[in-house]
Amino acid sequence: MNFQNTLDFAKQLDQADKLHAYRDRFLFPAHNNREVVYFTGNSLGLQPKATQSYIQEELNDWAKFGVEGHVLAKHPWMPYHEFLTEKMAKIVGAKSSEVVMMNQLTVNLHLLMVSFYRPTKQRYKILCEAKAFPSDQYALQSQVKFHGYSIDDALIEVFPREGEYCLRHEDIYEAIEKHKDSLALIMIGGVNYFSGQVFDMKGITEAGHKAGAVVGFDLAHGAGNLKLNLHDWGVDFAAWCSYKYLNSGPGSVAGAFVHEKHHANTDLPLFAGWWGHDKETRFLMDKTFVPIKTAERWQLSNAPIFAMAACRAALDMFDEVGMDALIAKSKTLTAYLEFVVKEISAKEVAAGRGALEIITPSEHRGCQLSIVAHGQGKALYNKLIENGVIPDWREPNVIRCAPVPMYNSYEDIYRFGEILSEILHKG
Ligand SMILES: *Cc1c(COP(=O)(O)O)cnc(C)c1O
Repeated sequence: MNFQNTLDFAKQLDQADKLHAYRDRFLFPAHNNREVVYFTGNSLGLQPKATQSYIQEELNDWAKFGVEGHVLAKHPWMPYHEFLTEKMAKIVGAKSSEVVMMNQLTVNLHLLMVSFYRPTKQRYKILCEAKAFPSDQYALQSQVKFHGYSIDDALIEVFPREGEYCLRHEDIYEAIEKHKDSLALIMIGGVNYFSGQVFDMKGITEAGHKAGAVVGFDLAHGAGNLKLNLHDWGVDFAAWCSYKYLNSGPGSVAGAFVHEKHHANTDLPLFAGWWGHDKETRFLMDKTFVPIKTAERWQLSNAPIFAMAACRAALDMFDEVGMDALIAKSKTLTAYLEFVVKEISAKEVAAGRGALEIITPSEHRGCQLSIVAHGQGKALYNKLIENGVIPDWREPNVIRCAPVPMYNSYEDIYRFGEILSEILHKG
């Protein structure tokens, strides 16, 4: 498509956009009485207007039924997580039996590693991307230490090459090959939070399995942002949060995926709780743990209903729109942002100032663009905030912009460009 950086053109694209009306179904923060340009759905998705009534329904049923709400609530609390499963499974390309909503992301990573990081004297290493999200680094380091290995020896980080921001897949595959006799687990973010680079999860899963390792992904930046096929790719396990692209509210309940091929194996070690116990006999309160033969086995506790109500509101909307339509819009929306940033960058360079370098690889990305504004520091980010744009800043030098297809518009991108140009022009 031949883009133009004009308001008219942006409005034309909005008019032609079948998802444009969804924007009205979200609550936008305001700046000087005007909606902000919200580019931070990769950090905390906006609140759907419907969320309040979903949560209110549970408050009402709690008031009306007390403990009997577990059974009598309109959406009974006992099986409440099940209302989320199918819709979530569609988003990540899984069977319903492979997905469960529970806990929080880092908690789920740990619980899944209890089952899927089973180091032996021979195979004990974990391969991950360098500069993984800090919580993932701490989780991996603590798992390694917990099993009595040294972090330096057991944790293999794959780094970008000198002067580059992104990983080369050939370097990932080379590292897998190099450590193939000692590799227990590959645990990578499906999308790197910093660069926005999307990894070839299918290829990495195949290479990992060929090397005899288990393969898991952190999909915090993948779920709701990318077309995922966890089942078909044969991924062993995955976990993600629901408050970023999935719009389920701050700290809301997270997701976990365990591939069907592991369900029958009841010998897998796990940290158990009563919610992972066979539903038919759970309330016999017997001391013998009878594992559910689906991903629900990994549940420990009864469900956080209010968080799940918010998640249900958000997933109902995803189900209505469908990932294919979202991805189609996402591609054009992000390409438009790329176009606008490149145009502004060219003007900056022509005026003798620093370029705006997009470090996110164009063939391996979701909706996020990570921008290094050469010659500019965090001050540029601060000025964007002061002028009603909300991107985010990641140390040491990156401004992340994520136009989210569910609620961002082409006009948002035009306005972003206009504000950015003005700030740069004023210097
Ligand atoms: C956002 C994010 C987290 C956050 O973890 P919580 O347990 O939800 O606090 C972890 N890992 C990655 C890759 C993230 O992007």
